[in-house]
Amino acid sequence: MLYAFASLTTDLAAAILSPATCAACSTSIAMRTVFCSACAASIVFAPDDEANHVAAFMYGGAVAEAITAFKYTPRADLARPLADLLARGLPRLRGASPHVVIPVPLHPSRLAERGFNQSALLARPIARALDATFAPLALMRTRNTPRQASLDRSSRAWNVDGAFRVRPPYRVQGAHILLVDDVRTTGSTIAACEGVLREAGAASVRSLVIARTDGSKHDAP
Ligand SMILES: [Zn+2]
Repeated sequence: MLYAFASLTTDLAAAILSPATCAACSTSIAMRTVFCSACAASIVFAPDDEANHVAAFMYGGAVAEAITAFKYTPRADLARPLADLLARGLPRLRGASPHVVIPVPLHPSRLAERGFNQSALLARPIARALDATFAPLALMRTRNTPRQASLDRSSRAWNVDGAFRVRPPYRVQGAHILLVDDVRTTGSTIAACEGVLREAGAASVRSLVIARTDGSKHDAP
């Protein structure tokens, strides 16, 4: 009873500080929901057809708008609702529970430009939910590659090839790793990260993204 009261007052305080708005269109919504009903109607769940590389949703509609707003406008408040969306994919992960959660890193110059790594903000609550180690510095991006979104499909794998490294002194030998990113398009960024983690001795590498684009079904190497 005491807990319920404390939780209610915390929720009310949060609502007063930041009114609950739809993550896509900013319409007022009830607390603990992510989208207004009009935006929610545009959401498409990704099919549960991948064992190791899970996307919760298909990229498009309100999900795409919320991700774009989170990355490219000052909407850090969207981290929590987007992490909630990401967590919808967790039950689809098969196999041993991950030990380590690693966000796909940004190059330091991109990080300086944006001010935050959106994948790290999403990965932290996922690590907490899994009771796993959150390791935002375990991978480093050694090349400042052009944005994947600016490239055609055939250029993307080449673009990220050799762009990642396990950062010393991190050791991933024997670890079951979960990579977290916001969006997967061709899967080449995740495949490049997976390659270096496997080379460094990871026992398994899986990934979780909020949304995947059509035709991006990841073929694990
Ligand atoms: Zn809306």
